[in-house]
Amino acid sequence: MADGGCGDAERAGPGGLDLLGLVPGAPSCPHGPALLFVKTSQGKEEGRRFYACSACRDRKDCDFFQWEDEKVSETRLAAREEYNRNHQPSFTHRQNVERYKNFVLLPLSKRRFCQECQQLLLPAEWEEHSDHQFLCDVSTAQLKTPSKLLHPLENKKTNAQYLFADRSCQFLLDLIIGLGFRRVLSVGTPRLHEMIQTKASQEEDFRVRSLLLDIDFRYSQFYTEDEFCHYNMFNHYFFGGEAACETCRKFLYQDKGERVIMVADPPFGGLVEALASSFKKLMAMWTETEKVGHNNPEMPMFWIFPYFFESRILEFFPSFRMMDYQVDYDNHALYKHGKTGRRQSPVRIFTNLTPSMIVLPVEEGYRFCALCQRYVSSGNQHCEICNSCTSKDGRRWKHCVLCKKCVKPSWFHCNNCNCCALQNHSCEKAAAGCFVCGKAGHKRTTCPSLSHTRTVCQADKRQRQKTLKRVKMGICKTSAIKHAIFFRKKVKNKKKKT
Ligand code: SAH
Ligand code: ZN
Ligand code: ZN
Ligand code: ZN
Ligand code: ZN
Repeated sequence: MADGGCGDAERAGPGGLDLLGLVPGAPSCPHGPALLFVKTSQGKEEGRRFYACSACRDRKDCDFFQWEDEKVSETRLAAREEYNRNHQPSFTHRQNVERYKNFVLLPLSKRRFCQECQQLLLPAEWEEHSDHQFLCDVSTAQLKTPSKLLHPLENKKTNAQYLFADRSCQFLLDLIIGLGFRRVLSVGTPRLHEMIQTKASQEEDFRVRSLLLDIDFRYSQFYTEDEFCHYNMFNHYFFGGEAACETCRKFLYQDKGERVIMVADPPFGGLVEALASSFKKLMAMWTETEKVGHNNPEMPMFWIFPYFFESRILEFFPSFRMMDYQVDYDNHALYKHGKTGRRQSPVRIFTNLTPSMIVLPVEEGYRFCALCQRYVSSGNQHCEICNSCTSKDGRRWKHCVLCKKCVKPSWFHCNNCNCCALQNHSCEKAAAGCFVCGKAGHKRTTCPSLSHTRTVCQADKRQRQKTLKRVKMGICKTSAIKHAIFFRKKVKNKKKKT
């Protein structure tokens, strides 16, 4: 739904940004080691490398920036360390656990939650928050569903908290249980974690356990150190250090054949590469802890992400397959199951489990395709020519003999572009060629007209701010990231899809 046709994904504006990833010795911001990016500009040399915050795509949240070749003085390093220390949460996880213990001992009438500070308050602290709004009589049920108590950080590009609709969360949990898993590593899935925790405390024979890894430290108020780790999934950083990492490692150790699955629902803003690299590290932790042999060499995983990232995810995880199940959200205008019937959510489950084992609800219209050996959307027709159920978005796609593949129902074959696209697409855009010289046959990065000598110029502050702004705005040249930006705009404007 996000792409308009066969335009060259590599052609992004004047210049672009590429993620190089997490490198040894990278400087740190309050969110752990920064990621290395490369900035390329039209007609210029290879591009200059710089570090920026891994977690925050809004520079208002974290404005860390450093050229790779920049000399950082001892004084600045010391100041940075001090800054990083000062930008940690005011209470430690340990302290929050203690506070919680005291909080639950209070009578209902003394249980307050500050909505402004998003914090449980002890009576002695009421005074400090006297001009803030609070929620009174915080019940045990409310404490057990923090994802409903805390307001979702949806306006912040950084967190982009989109919470599962109850139906989708229940479906995921039933699926996990049905597949025989007893432990869930919940990466950025607080609502799934809380559903598991709630059931575990209510139902005696409910054996599933969950460990939540999330960057949202507010959750440390409600969970012990064995239930929650403050974690950054873009750089595999445990804020709680080795102890937290060890908690995770222990959790992944499969005792008495209790099978583990990782379920991740990251923000959709791109950086698939960074996410994949962290997930591989978590999978490696699982592999290392395992003493007995596996039948399955890869840790089972559900990666929940929009369908248009399929090729990106498969690039890093070739064993993954995309399921047709549409994941619905509560607080997302586009992906929620509206009153007036079903909106099509673009969010899917990517998994390394055998597709035929992922049973999708027939009552929601999914059916089993015997030829593909997987459950598909009701609208997804098996194409005889492709020999596959080809729809990605749930609508019935049509086969184009010229393109030799199935395409979206709204697309038509354009003889100019020699591929299928929306009827009103502009043909020039698709005239692919190098961004620098305009010739076909190579991309900007390998353009022979570029000199590859590196000119180390002294960067002024404005230039670095401009670059940072571009990275925060997500002006990267990968198509995935372009999709993500488009996606966000669409959400904002609530425009109709293709
Ligand atoms: N659908 C899920 C929530 C997904 S929203 C549910 O209902 O449980 C994305 C989640 O990822 C949020 O909980 C957010 O806090 C978390 N997150 C965002 N950036 C992160 C990062 N860099 N590292 C770890 N978690 C992150
Ligand atoms: Zn940061
Ligand atoms: Zn099929
Ligand atoms: Zn086809
Ligand atoms: Zn075509």
